Amino acid sequence: MLEKVLIANRGEIALRILRACRELGIRTVAAHSSADRDLKHVRLADETVCIGPPSSTESYLNIPALVSAAEVTASDAIHPGYGFLSENADFAERVEHSGFTFIGPRAETIRVMGDKVAAITAMKAAGIPCVPGSDGPLDDDEERNLQLARDIGYPVIIKAAGGGGGRGMRVVHKEADLLGAISVTRNEARSSFGNATVYMEKYLQNPRHIEIQVMADHHGNAIHLGERDCSMQRRHQKVIEESPAPGLTEEQRREIGERCALACREIGYRGAGTFEFLYEDGNFYFIEMNTRIQVEHPVTEMVTGVDLVREQLRVAAGDPLSYRQEDIVVRGHAIECRLNAEDPRTFVPSPGKISQYHAPGGPGVRVDSHVYTGYTVPPYYDSMIGKLITHSDTRGSALARMRTALAEIVIGGIKSNVGLHQELLLDPNFQAGGTNIHYLEKRLGED
Ligand code: ADP
Repeated sequence: MLEKVLIANRGEIALRILRACRELGIRTVAAHSSADRDLKHVRLADETVCIGPPSSTESYLNIPALVSAAEVTASDAIHPGYGFLSENADFAERVEHSGFTFIGPRAETIRVMGDKVAAITAMKAAGIPCVPGSDGPLDDDEERNLQLARDIGYPVIIKAAGGGGGRGMRVVHKEADLLGAISVTRNEARSSFGNATVYMEKYLQNPRHIEIQVMADHHGNAIHLGERDCSMQRRHQKVIEESPAPGLTEEQRREIGERCALACREIGYRGAGTFEFLYEDGNFYFIEMNTRIQVEHPVTEMVTGVDLVREQLRVAAGDPLSYRQEDIVVRGHAIECRLNAEDPRTFVPSPGKISQYHAPGGPGVRVDSHVYTGYTVPPYYDSMIGKLITHSDTRGSALARMRTALAEIVIGGIKSNVGLHQELLLDPNFQAGGTNIHYLEKRLGED
């Protein structure tokens, strides 16, 4: 087993990693910025290292500082969490070359999945269903591109191979706009991502976002842990997630899940990962793979009973998976509401001191959060201050528990999106289940 893990992240996920380490008897090092001395996991960690000033480029994205922190503390592994350097292949490589274990897949896997064209090519070869589109990058042959779009059928979407975070994409509704859109996206891609490669896909008009959780070890074993529906989004940011996805049959789950597990075996994947799909008219279309733990992993943990972070640590230490596919059973239903320090109407971040904090409780209620009464939410980072998760035997009961928990939670002194969640939990269409990725923005009048 690992002896000492350096946590290269902050907030709720850093605390989540610390808890999993504690359970396994692993010592922890909290690598934090100078703005984060009061974070809960920094207070609880066995050792702490300040890696730089508040700005994330100088701290949580500072590769030399993180590697030195691992060296001076004699850590044997680094957990990157999500965001920051978690999907940075150069970081994974540096960590491994410096003699530490990177808790995640191999650097070369991260590199392939970070290039969307390479990822789609690899996934197609592994039998994963993809969105109809260009086979690889677009070239400069205008006639060929026009013909390609006609064959795919409008609307189409032009995407940057190096894009991320919802940037570097352009929807084209008619032929007259196609060539202009390709050149604008290409120029943006070159300046924003340093990679001018673009490709074309059919634009799906009303899909849902459904993703499959996988876990693989160093011994060639890979399993899937069912799906999550993350269609409730605003500006490509997930707001509510749930598992299982409403309306998906056991057979559909098994079929797509097994394909993903098989693809993991074929590409030699290891660790936790997520295959993201758009889902429309009963069909799955791969869009990207996330090579890390995700924010919404708790809903999968609640319905499967598997501790995904503990499993990440075990697998990184070289242990075989603790579960076989037949051990994974989805029980009941789980929902997660992301809690953000922001204005519930304007979505403007609301950092500041939390004057009062009371977490909800009761059966099937889980709160993953680093905040406490007196904690000051700094203005430098993401506005997420935690996640509220409920689990019950049915979706209706999980929703009822979420409504109860949202009525109980107290976050004083700053604005939060609790009110928005309360409204969404009463929304008849959300209650019915199966709303698509445009639903929230339409409801907010932003679409
Ligand atoms: P990013 O890495 O920037 O998150 P993705 O490829 O995951 O990019 O796409 C982000 C979002 O853009 C998707 O969740 C979906 O809302 C939309 N999108 C991407 N590709 C398509 C497509 N072919 N059809 C419809 N929507 C799409």
